Amino acid sequence: MAMLPIITAPDPRLKLKAKPVAAVDDKIRKLMAEMLETMYAAPGIGLAAPQVGVARRVIVIDCARDSEPRQPLKLANPELLWTSDEIMTVNEGCLSLPEHYADVERPAAIRVRYLDEQNEIRELEAKGLLATCIQHEMDHLEGVLFVDHISALKRGIILRKLAKAKRQKTPVPA
Ligand SMILES: [Zn+2]
Repeated sequence: MAMLPIITAPDPRLKLKAKPVAAVDDKIRKLMAEMLETMYAAPGIGLAAPQVGVARRVIVIDCARDSEPRQPLKLANPELLWTSDEIMTVNEGCLSLPEHYADVERPAAIRVRYLDEQNEIRELEAKGLLATCIQHEMDHLEGVLFVDHISALKRGIILRKLAKAKRQKTPVPA
């Protein structure tokens, strides 16, 4: 199975709004499977299609602890149906902002509707880390990163460091 390259910020492809999938067909199932393998290898607990350069509304998640069996979730066209008034703060990270973390406030519980791997409409209620993770990945479909939820000052510091790290990785043309 092919590993997909993960795009890191700053990158204009992370700011795009992703398009819905018409249906979960073999092509989308392959994308979901490759995204999941890429996420496990990273390692991460969630990955959205725009992070691998595909501007489609597809996310994969697995919030199981290391000691637990895998609990992969593959969601296409996810929509929030309900969010709790209760707010939770989680120290979030992101595979597209490697080695940076910040406290982000989000609703503590959600209900989401989506298309599953078989193209069936499903609903899922989530709380805690899973709720945070689904909201974080759904943000990617809107071109929103976790740093967009924190102060402009903190965001600027993180993005400047990432831009610098990226410049140092890019070979300088002779
Ligand atoms: Zn992310």
